[in-house]
Amino acid sequence: MSAEELTRARTVLGLSPGELAAEIGLTEPVVRAWEDGSLRIPQHYAIQIVWRAAVAERQAALASSGLPECAWVTRWMDSAPPLGAGAQREHLDALRRHAAVCPHCTARARFVEQNFPPMPDLPIPPTVRALRTAGGALKRLPVWLRVTVIGAMAVGVLTILRIAGLAIGGEGPSPVNALGLLIGAIIIGAYQGAVGGITYSIVRDPLRKIGRLGDYLTGILCVWAYLLASVLPLQLLPDRPEFAHPDQAPALALGGALVGVIIGHLWFRHR
Ligand SMILES: [Zn+2]
Repeated sequence: MSAEELTRARTVLGLSPGELAAEIGLTEPVVRAWEDGSLRIPQHYAIQIVWRAAVAERQAALASSGLPECAWVTRWMDSAPPLGAGAQREHLDALRRHAAVCPHCTARARFVEQNFPPMPDLPIPPTVRALRTAGGALKRLPVWLRVTVIGAMAVGVLTILRIAGLAIGGEGPSPVNALGLLIGAIIIGAYQGAVGGITYSIVRDPLRKIGRLGDYLTGILCVWAYLLASVLPLQLLPDRPEFAHPDQAPALALGGALVGVIIGHLWFRHR
């Protein structure tokens, strides 16, 4: 956002530099420094100001357009939003359903569409924005690759936490060793995730045909593949077999099946 754009947005909002500063929780010299170009405007403030100016501009144009206001929407705005996520979603849905059919609302929406460009991005916190971008990129990947990335990230985060825990206890590895541990963990996590994800993409469609039971079987098979992928390489190391006593294997398989049933119930169950 340039200094001129900021001055324009502030004028649209009808605020002095001091008033704008107070509204966004900053001091007047900061806003003045943004406007004379001596200080860069941080992006999350820019997005917030541009969005509010865009709303104010459209509202002012609507007010002078002569289009009647919608009494239903006025009542909706005056009513207190309900408590609880479900009720709030329903509250918003009611507005959307109304706006789609109400002649006043559609006329006003058409007026805004014809006279203004699309609304700028919503002001959302930078962390939420970053997560949303990452989530969007993740959704476009094929399933097996998505699970690979998630597996790598999950094991990576757990390893960082473990290293941090050791470091707090004064037993932390050297930075080079810590980096080595982290990279190793990410590779293992990616490998385990890939095996689980590939299993999913192979068995999901055939098992979908047998209904609810197939959803649970998918969970069980994915967990078993994941466990096998985790245990087999270690088992083949002669000096450190994962199962010194192979009689533990059935217990592990049973435990894995239980976890698989839970995953199948939570993630794969047909809705
Ligand atoms: Zn309406």
